[in-house]
Amino acid sequence: MQSGIVTRFAPSPTGWLHPGHALSAGIAALHARAAGGRFLLRIEDIDTTRCRPEYSDAILADLAWLGLHWEQPVRRQSQHFAAYATALDDLKQRGLLYPCFCTRRQIQAEIAAAGGAPHGFDGALYPGTCRGLAESARQDRIAAGGNYALRLDMAAACRQVAGWPLRWQDGTAGPQAVTADLLLAGFGDVVLARKDIPASYHLCVTHDDALQGITLVTRGQDLFPATHLHRLLQALFGWPVPAYAHHRLLADESGERLAKRRGAASLRDLRMAGASPAAVWRQVGLDPADMEKMAESVSRETPRERS
Ligand code: GLU
Repeated sequence: MQSGIVTRFAPSPTGWLHPGHALSAGIAALHARAAGGRFLLRIEDIDTTRCRPEYSDAILADLAWLGLHWEQPVRRQSQHFAAYATALDDLKQRGLLYPCFCTRRQIQAEIAAAGGAPHGFDGALYPGTCRGLAESARQDRIAAGGNYALRLDMAAACRQVAGWPLRWQDGTAGPQAVTADLLLAGFGDVVLARKDIPASYHLCVTHDDALQGITLVTRGQDLFPATHLHRLLQALFGWPVPAYAHHRLLADESGERLAKRRGAASLRDLRMAGASPAAVWRQVGLDPADMEKMAESVSRETPRERS
């Protein structure tokens, strides 16, 4: 019998998947399976400057090789820019978005001139340079054709939300309370879109988890702080709040985080080199027998379709 649990694995095709992704996907699939729920795959390919079709293809091949089964159709974010634009427009109508024309270098110079800036979860906070620009100046700068970002006016956004603190639940860390102070100090005026990449990870992931009825978000511990921001977006849009399970990250022998940029063997390398899926599950600390049992029971119910 199916439960209400809906989980997903949502990789970005900006490189080959590595064993850390196998852990993430495996945990999500196990959660769904244990509860008789549903497991979805979503390709988060909004950054068209970095995503490549061969990486998307390899994601499907790697996960199938590992024995995972997911529901069809696979949602590909790059096919839904219009939906994200509608959400951004809503924020714009409510006076919560403003265009920022600062380059990274200008922001650094401004921060240096001010003698530093407070640090949030993701580095130095934006000093708010473009927040007060007049509408006419904004229109002139946009018409001039350069690049710009759309930033959330965090203070204004927090004023439009009622019911502080906002709450969410992590499977390991327990109940979380999000205050406006935490959002201002942790994110400041965060970027939600750019002219060249018309929607940010934060907006799309929160939008899609709501749209697809995800009830349990499983993802790496590195995204734990981002969930505070996602909770704000849920409050602004009136979207449901899923449960979260942020899981451990894999480390290599030296204790350093295993990430694709540091040259860890990719799942594709392992697959091509003739490694066994069981060896990957063992490497990431999941029981190969459990994974095999899950694969067998799901494939009996749903013959695999490839997207
Ligand atoms: N697409 C994100 C990534 O690959 C993960 C999104 C999520 O699970 O929330 O890092």
